[in-house]
Amino acid sequence: MNRPYASRQPKRPRIVVIGAGPTGLAAGLALAGQSQADWLVLEASARVGGLSGSLRDERGFVWDMGGHVFFSSWPGFMALLSGPGRATMVERRRRAKVFYSGHWVDFPFQSHFQTLPPALAAPLAQGLAQAPGATPGQSFAAWCAAVYGRPLAEAFFWPFNAKLWQTPLEGMSSLWVDRRVAPADGRADWGPNNHYFYPAQGGAGRPFVAMARALGDGLRLKAAVEAIDAGARTIHLADGQRLAWDGLISTMPLPRLLAMLRPAPPARALAAAARLKHNAMWLVGLGLAGPMPAEAAAWMYFPEPEFIFSRLTNMAAHGPANLPGADARRWRAYLAEVPAPGGSADQPAGLVQAVREGLIRAGLAQPGERPVSVFTRLLPVAYPAPTLGREDDLRLLHDFLEGLGVFSRGRLGGWLYEIGNMDHAARMGQEAVGRLLGAAGEPLWDEQWALLKQSM
Ligand SMILES: Cc1cc2nc3c(=O)[nH]c(=O)nc-3n(C[C@H](O)[C@H](O)[C@H](O)COP(=O)(O)OP(=O)(O)OC[C@H]3O[C@@H](n4cnc5c(N)ncnc54)[C@H](O)[C@@H]3O)c2cc1C
Repeated sequence: MNRPYASRQPKRPRIVVIGAGPTGLAAGLALAGQSQADWLVLEASARVGGLSGSLRDERGFVWDMGGHVFFSSWPGFMALLSGPGRATMVERRRRAKVFYSGHWVDFPFQSHFQTLPPALAAPLAQGLAQAPGATPGQSFAAWCAAVYGRPLAEAFFWPFNAKLWQTPLEGMSSLWVDRRVAPADGRADWGPNNHYFYPAQGGAGRPFVAMARALGDGLRLKAAVEAIDAGARTIHLADGQRLAWDGLISTMPLPRLLAMLRPAPPARALAAAARLKHNAMWLVGLGLAGPMPAEAAAWMYFPEPEFIFSRLTNMAAHGPANLPGADARRWRAYLAEVPAPGGSADQPAGLVQAVREGLIRAGLAQPGERPVSVFTRLLPVAYPAPTLGREDDLRLLHDFLEGLGVFSRGRLGGWLYEIGNMDHAARMGQEAVGRLLGAAGEPLWDEQWALLKQSM
């Protein structure tokens, strides 16, 4: 059991939260609702939401930072998003497809490949029937073949995941798959997101803008943290300011946090941080004239290497408000996710053209059709990879940081992909505040670690 953190703090501690994504905003709201501590939320950019933010371009197209939909088994999440003064959320049924060998197959692929022509479907069915099943400790690559059979692994799981994760699947663990990868049980409605919510206006980022408003001047934008002095307990901002803290919640990518600490962390902590793997992701949004074709689902997966993107989101399917004038008869908009190796910085030559060609190949755009709007954005750290041995490195890093009074939480702060969604992030933020103010533990974080410890 964790020792209540508050027992080690001054009477009225000052808690600083780094980042105004879902984790930092939920932490800020929890802090705003109490009187035991002074607090402040610092956000480097001029807008809130982090990876879950949205923007409207000059033509009126709304772009999310990758396809984002809302779902959760935690009732507190919807209360945060859609309480009084927050966003109006609209419920939708999932319509997701996979484009394979020139055919559209309903998602999950392993439950619908039988709709392919017999020559394509038969070997996949035979491989699935003969699959031996998973054994503990398998790499993700081995797990895919063991659960779905080699033909399905070769057709979908290996190429799709190699494209997405940008790291060898043999070096990834299979500990995270339970809530993230569908079984091959023929159920079309698999998964926590078979129904989902999406804001009626303003894209996925709208609820976070509303949450930020409730923080008032407790939130500072354009306040980039450059260094953290763990000895003097001060934060150094890019504009030269120094701020004191007693407890810190950081939501920036964990390796970046380690690199910012003064004095420098011990060599074994730096080595553990250096072993963490992640991908980067280019987002390319294309706004086009004309309505969406009937075959366009809300989101579409592309396992084959001929397509530069791993997934396309049809922004209009989440609601016409994502289009100029909310006019789905005049406009359509596709948001492509193009994974890249971690550390990528330069836009690949021909990126936008390659996305256009992919749309044409999938029948979603016509040759010669010119986009009326083009949006590009790099997410330098998008998916924290569940690599083999990651748990030991993460345990070492989080124990070291918590000893300094620093709680690194959220998708990239915690670095646990299993609890890397928006609802998990918000809950981690809220529960980290509870811990700093005296609660014995952080239920979501502790539960995930209890699961991982069984396999460590
Ligand atoms: C492509 C993609 C698709 C996704 N789809 C879904 C989905 O459909 N459903 C779902 O639930 N989740 C989805 N997610 C996950 C979701 O984006 C995250 O769960 C969520 O944004 C994590 O919130 P966070 O606050 O932990 O981190 P972030 O969103 O990364 O926010 C961190 C914030 O910290 C700020 N920051 C960083 N460094 C500093 C610094 N030095 N000083 C000050 N501020 C700093 C950043 O600017 C940022 O605003 C998706 C993620 C990706 C990448």
